Amino acid sequence: MRKDVRILLVGEPKVGKTSLIMTLVSEEFPAVVPYRAEEITIPADVTPERVPTHIVDYSEAEQTDEQLYQEISKANVICIVYSVNNKKSIEKVTSHWIPLINERTDKDSRVPLILVGNKSDLVEHSSMETVLPIMNKYTEIETCVECSAKNLKNISELFYYAQKAVLHPTGPLYCPEKKEMRSACVRALTRIFKVSDLDNDGILNDHELTFFQRTCFNTPLAPQALEDVKNVVRKNLTDGVRDNGLTLKGFLFLHTLFIQRGRHETTWAVLRRFGYDDDLELHQDYLFPLLKIPPDCTTELNHNAYLFLQSVFDKHDKDRDSALSPEELMDLFDVFPYVPWGLDVNSTVCTNDQGWITYQGYLSQWTLTTYLDVQRCLEYLGYLGYSIIAEQESQASAITVTRDKKLDLQKKQTQRNVFRCHVFGITGSGKTSFLQGFLGRNLVRQKAIKEEHKSYYAISTAHVYGQEKYLLLHEIFPDFDFLSETELSCDIVCLIYDVSNPCSFEYCARIFKQYFMDSKTPCMLIAAKSDLPETKQQYCMTPLEFCRKHKMPPPQSYTCNTAAAPSKDIFIKLTIMAVYPHARLRCMCTCNRCTFCLCQNFLNSELVQTVRTKLYTVIFSRHITHADLKSSTFWLRASVGATVCAMLGFAMYRALLRSR
Ligand code: GDP
Ligand code: MG
Repeated sequence: MRKDVRILLVGEPKVGKTSLIMTLVSEEFPAVVPYRAEEITIPADVTPERVPTHIVDYSEAEQTDEQLYQEISKANVICIVYSVNNKKSIEKVTSHWIPLINERTDKDSRVPLILVGNKSDLVEHSSMETVLPIMNKYTEIETCVECSAKNLKNISELFYYAQKAVLHPTGPLYCPEKKEMRSACVRALTRIFKVSDLDNDGILNDHELTFFQRTCFNTPLAPQALEDVKNVVRKNLTDGVRDNGLTLKGFLFLHTLFIQRGRHETTWAVLRRFGYDDDLELHQDYLFPLLKIPPDCTTELNHNAYLFLQSVFDKHDKDRDSALSPEELMDLFDVFPYVPWGLDVNSTVCTNDQGWITYQGYLSQWTLTTYLDVQRCLEYLGYLGYSIIAEQESQASAITVTRDKKLDLQKKQTQRNVFRCHVFGITGSGKTSFLQGFLGRNLVRQKAIKEEHKSYYAISTAHVYGQEKYLLLHEIFPDFDFLSETELSCDIVCLIYDVSNPCSFEYCARIFKQYFMDSKTPCMLIAAKSDLPETKQQYCMTPLEFCRKHKMPPPQSYTCNTAAAPSKDIFIKLTIMAVYPHARLRCMCTCNRCTFCLCQNFLNSELVQTVRTKLYTVIFSRHITHADLKSSTFWLRASVGATVCAMLGFAMYRALLRSR
C-alpha cells in the first residue's frame, strides 16, 4: 500500500479552491479566505482509506509558473476546479489546464484528474452535460463531481474520490475507450479464479465463493447476497452461472460491473489480497517473504505444505490415476507466469509407465526445489496461492529450516527428512544409471531417456525403520582438480566403479583419500554393472581390501540391468547411513543369511516384539503417577526391564545361531 496521497487543486482564480479546502477543514464556509491555503496534512486515521493525505492549494497571484509545475509533478492526483456558473472557467479546463498538466507528466503514468464543479448552490441546472464530453475525451479524468463550499455539499466526497483515484486507480484495470477490462487485469483475475476454484471444475460453487469472500473481505457473505450476485450475472449473461455456481466468464463480468459502477476498490481489494501490486504484477514481498537460513541448515517442506501440495495434485489429477499427464500438468501450471519445470524433471523423479510424473514424483520434485532453491519454492507456492488457501501468514510458514548439521552430529540425532548423497565415479562408470535405478528404471527404460532430458539429480523416498525419508542423489562431474565446497558437502558419499573396467576403481580410491578419508561423511563403495564379468582393478589393493583398510563397508554390488525395476536395497542402506552417520554398521548386506541379517531379522521379528511388549506391560502396568516418574526406583525398574529384554533377545539369538 502507498505511504501517502498528495492532492493538488488547480483552476482559474476565484472558482473557490481555497474555500473548498478551508471548508473541508473547518466544516463551515469561511466568509473571507486568503489567496492560497497552507498545505494541510490529514492524519491517516481520519481519512476513509487510512493513509495520510496532503492537500495543496494553488494561487496564480502568489505562485510562479515554475512553482506550479513543480507542484504538478509532485501531485498524485489533481483536482481541476471550475465554477458551475462561470462558462469561461469550464472552457479553460480543456483549453488550458489539461494540456498544461499532460505536458508535465509521462503518457504512460498520467496523473489521475478529477473535475470539480464548485458553487453548485448558485445554479439550478447541472453542468454535467458540458462536462461529460470532456470526460469521454480525456481518459485520465477519473471522475467528476459537483459541489458547493457554501452549502458544504459533496466536500468530503470530493476528497474521498481524489484519494480513491490514487489508491485504487482505474487505469490499470479498465480501458475506457474499449469499455472493457485490460488484459493484465483479466489475466490476474483468471489466476485468482483458478486458485479459488478448489475442486477445479471451472465453477465457483457456494462453498468456494464463501471462502473467497471471507479471505478477500474478511466478512462472510449472507446467503441472500450470494443469490443476488448470481442473479445479476444470470440476468446479463447466458453462461455466467452454471450448476448454481459462477463461471470464469461470470466472475470476470462481475468485476467489469464493479469497475464500471465506480466500485473498483472492490476489484482492487481482491487483486491485492492475491498479491498484486499497482502494476498488476505479483508483488515481490508476496512472492519472496523473508526467510532466514543460517549456514549448515537445510530447508524442507513441513506437514502443512505437503497437505496443501497434495490438494493441488488431487485437484489436477482429473482421471485419478495418481499421475499428472502433460495436459494435467499444464493445467496445474496455468496459474504460473511461466512453466517452472523443464523436461529434465521427468528424469529426476519417479514417473509411471507412460513417463508421467506420479504423486510420489511430484512431491519429490517439490522437496528437491525446497532443498536446493528455497526462494524458488517460495515463489512457486506464491503462484499457487499457498498463503491464501492454506490460510497462512505467507509461504515462509510452509518451510522448516532444520537445525545446524553440526548440532545433529553432536546430539547423534536428526529431525531432518531430506538427505543428500553425492555420487562420484569416472565417466561411464554407471553414475547416471545408478541415479535412474533409484527411480525404478532398469537399463531398458533408461535407454529411452533423451540426452537433453538427462538430469544430474534423482530424488525419491526410502523407508528407514518405518519412517519415510527423502534421499537426494547428485551426480558429480568427474573433475578431480575442481571439486567445490558444495560438491563435497553432503550426508553420504557414493564412490562408484565399474567391475568390468579395470581403470575405474583408482578414481574412487583417489577421491576418497584426497577428500573424505579424514571427513566425518560416511562413504560407500559401489561395484556397478555387477551383471558383467568382473575384471581385476588396476590398483595396489582390491576394492575389498581398500574398504577393510579404511573401515568402510565392503563394496556393494549393483546392477540396473534387470528385467523388473532394479532393487532398492542399496538406497535404503545409503539412507540409513545418512540418517545415522555415527552408527557403525558392520554388515551392509540384506542377504538374510549372514549373522548380521539374521540378528536384524530376529530383533525385528514378531516373537521378540511380543515378548518385549509383554515385559514392558508388566513393568509399566502399574498406574504411573507423577511421583513415580520422579522416584529413582521407577527408573531403575524400567531400565532393568530394558536389560531383561536385551538379554532375552541375545539368548534367543545365540540359541538360533547354535541351531544352524
Ligand atoms: P480561489 O481563488 O479559487 O481560491 O477561490 P476562493 O476560495 O478565494 O473563492 C472565491 C470566491 O468565491 C470567494 O468570495 C468565495 O466566498 C466564493 N465561493 C467559494 N466557494 C463558493 C461556493 O460554493 N458557493 C458560493 N456561492 N460562493 C463560493
Ligand atoms: Mg485561492
